Order: sequence, then C-alpha cells, then structure tokens
Amino acid sequence: MIQEIWGRVQEALIKRVGKNNHQTWIEPLKLSGLTDGVVRFDVPTTFFGDWVSRNFSDHILTLLNESGAQAGRVEFVVVSSRPVRPAPKALSKAASKTSARSRSGTDDELPGASLDPSNTFDSFVVGKPNELAHAAARRVAVGGPVTFNPLFLYGGVGLGKTHLMHAIAQQLQAGQPELRVLYLSAEQFMYRFVQALREHQIMDFKGLFRSVDVLMVDDVQFIAGKDSTQEEFFHTFNALVDQNKQIVISADRAPGEIKDLEERIKSRMQCGLVVDLHPTDYELRLGILQQKVEYYRQQYKGLTMAPGVLEFLAHRITTNVRVLEGALTRLFAFASLVGREITLDLATDCLSDILRASDRKMTIEEIQRKVAEHYNIRLSDLIGPKRVRNIARPRQVAMYLAKQLTLRSLPEIGRRFGGRDHTTIMHGVRKIEELMATDSDLADNLAMLRRALQG
Ligand code: ADP
Ligand code: MG
Repeated sequence: MIQEIWGRVQEALIKRVGKNNHQTWIEPLKLSGLTDGVVRFDVPTTFFGDWVSRNFSDHILTLLNESGAQAGRVEFVVVSSRPVRPAPKALSKAASKTSARSRSGTDDELPGASLDPSNTFDSFVVGKPNELAHAAARRVAVGGPVTFNPLFLYGGVGLGKTHLMHAIAQQLQAGQPELRVLYLSAEQFMYRFVQALREHQIMDFKGLFRSVDVLMVDDVQFIAGKDSTQEEFFHTFNALVDQNKQIVISADRAPGEIKDLEERIKSRMQCGLVVDLHPTDYELRLGILQQKVEYYRQQYKGLTMAPGVLEFLAHRITTNVRVLEGALTRLFAFASLVGREITLDLATDCLSDILRASDRKMTIEEIQRKVAEHYNIRLSDLIGPKRVRNIARPRQVAMYLAKQLTLRSLPEIGRRFGGRDHTTIMHGVRKIEELMATDSDLADNLAMLRRALQG
C-alpha cells in the first residue's frame, strides 16, 4: 500500500526536486515501511540520510500525505550491508554469499556476524604503520599449522582492525571451504552467551564454540568488566588453544592495558603474537585515498578533481581512515549535486566540520620555528626582510606549509610574515609548488618538515 503510494508520487517528486536530485538522492532510497505514522527508508550511509532528511524530507512527507498516506515523520535507517566503498575485488562473489557461516550447511549454523565483502587484503592499503599487522594477518589467512595463538591485533578506532579480520576470514573460507570459521564481535559473543543462559542451552553454546576451526573475536575490550562472559570466553579460548585451533582477537588497546580484564586472560592473550596498528601517516592516508578515489571516479563519471585535493585531505584529515573515507564520499556526492569540479575550495566548504575537527591547531609560529630550525637559520631572519636566497627560499617553504597545514587566509599568513602582502604569500606558495615538481631535494625537505610538524 505505502509502496504503491511511494511509486505514485515519484513523478511529482521529480517536478519538485529536479531530475538530477531525484536520481542522486531519491532513487537510492528504499522504502521499508510505514508504522505508527513513521515512514522508514533504508539509506547507504549516515551522510546520505542526513542530506535527504535535511533537503527533501518535507517534500517527501507532503507528497505522501497528499496521496493518502498517513505519515507524520520520515526516518532514515543506515543499512550497513550496502557500504559505499570500493567494490569488492577478488573474493567478492564467494564471500558475499557465505558470511561467516559454516558452508557444510548440514548440522548447525555458526552464529557469526556477516563479513563485508569489500574488506579484503586486496583493498587493504599497506604502509609503515600497519605493515606488521598486515603481514601477521596474511600469515594466519594462509591457514595450515598454527604458528602463533592467538593473533592479537590492536589499535585505535578506524585503523583497519575489522577490515583485516574480515579479510582473514574471507580468505580462509575461500581457500578452505570446509573450514569452520567463526567471526563475531565480543558484544555478540556476550549476547549469545546470555541468551544461551536464559534459554538453558549453555551446553549447546559451549559445544558450538568449541567446534570451530578458527575463532575470531572483534573488539574484545567490550567484555572487560563483564564477569561471567569473561569467564566463559576464557574457557572457550583455552579449549580451542588446546585443540590447536587458530584464534584471532582484536581490541582497541594492548592486552595489558585493558582495564577490568582478568589477569589470566591478559596473560593468555600475550602468549600469542601481539601486533598493533599505528596511527596513519601521510603516505598511508594518501595511498588509501588514491585507491578509494578510483572507485568514485567510476561511480561519478564526468566529475573531475583538481590536482592537490587528495594531498590536501591526506594532510588535513589525520584522525582515522573511516573519517577519511567519509570525507571522500561526501565530497563526491556534493560535487555531483552541485555539478562542479572538485577543487580545494569545494573541499574546504563541503568538509568544514571534518576539517575543523581534525585541525590539530597547528600554528604559523610552529611552522616558522620548525622551518628555521630545519634550514638552520634564525627565526627573525625567516620572518624579516632579507632577500638572500638561502633565507628567501626557506621563507617560501614556510609560507607554503602555512597555507597547506593551517586554515589561515593569505592576508593572515602575510601578517605573520612581518606584514607582507597576500600577493607575496601567494607568489611564495606558487613558487614552491612549481619547484617541487622538478627539485627532488626540495620535495624531500618538504616531506621531512611535514612529518616533523604532523608528528
Ligand atoms: P577498526 O575496526 O580498526 O575500527 P575498520 O577496519 O572498521 O577499523 O576500518 C575503518 C574503515 O577504514 C573501513 O572502511 C576500512 O575498510 C578502512 N580502512 C582502514 N584501514 C585501511 C587500509 N589500510 N586500507 C584500506 N582501507 C582501510
Ligand atoms: Mg572494528
């Protein structure tokens, strides 16, 4: 009924919001139902939902009601199983069908969480900060005799722990379909456990978890402080280790640092291989952006991107990869909406909130000090009027970095450089951009400075 009405109002919606908007924002909506006056739509991302909600929900509501629906509100539900990100590569076909379940399909089904088919090793960009974790994950994904147990991956939010775990599970299942691989979050583990207790099926629960070949538990810090769940986890863990079954665990910090986790669990965790994912560095972020942008170029044919935008994002968004991805998604959606080239200005506009949040409050003074130190000249000379080349060039480098790494405008930067005019700053920035292309020494120095500043 509501689906029918929804179908009928499309014409009118196109008239109201325009064909392009309709195609970009309305067509992807999946109406999931109308209950108690609330119309629910499935959307692919939070940003998507927010955008539609802000811009089109009034139109949607009005038209639905005009056509006989009794709706008072529109709600958008993010359906995470349709992630907007690079399309699955190698294992996609197999993986999307299996999730982390037993493929034997005979007796019991493993109560695993579903695996995102785009989280593969192929789509994981490797850099200094994550190379060890990646290597360890690959090793486990090969299968065969267990060499370290458990593999314990830890690191801050959005650095790729879940991605690596999904990649391991999917590669194992693709290579050895008979293997019983169980991947789930610690929260789901607890949920299953509590449910089994409630339904008096604790023996089934134990049997099930002890029958897997590979157990992968994501975000194990979640069970800290949850005593009986920890207890059960500990027994499951030991039983599997005794049978030489591989265990992979992730957490947001090292085993020893998880508060309210039992000592005996901590020490068992440390018996295996503990590797951490370090915060991303500039090169890794740029690498990830370059990989993801390929996908968007396919999705949004015809959109162009000015040079320097990815570099800008990699410099400025340092929090985590999830935020970086979100920024790219939003940038493309926004650019396609307004039908403009993706430029630095557009990025600054469209991502102002994200950029502000990741702004590490780098000051121009900090940059000037670092540059002066790096080139071994006095700070007063760097800012002062001297025009000799061995001072003028570092000065331009500092201007360039100030423009790149802070949100300050050219006139503001000019003021901090001894009251220079904004055109002088612009000239300096351009000069460095030009030189960088041909002068690899300069490019190296810049990279070094950037690293030092972004620590
Ligand atoms: P965590 O579990 O550590 O919080 P996720 O694995 O969920 O982080 O990663 C967050 C997002 O960033 C995911 O979409 C993931 O695919 C992506 N991501 C993280 N690291 C990388 C990487 N090195 N290469 C490609 N994508 C990455
Ligand atoms: Mg995770």
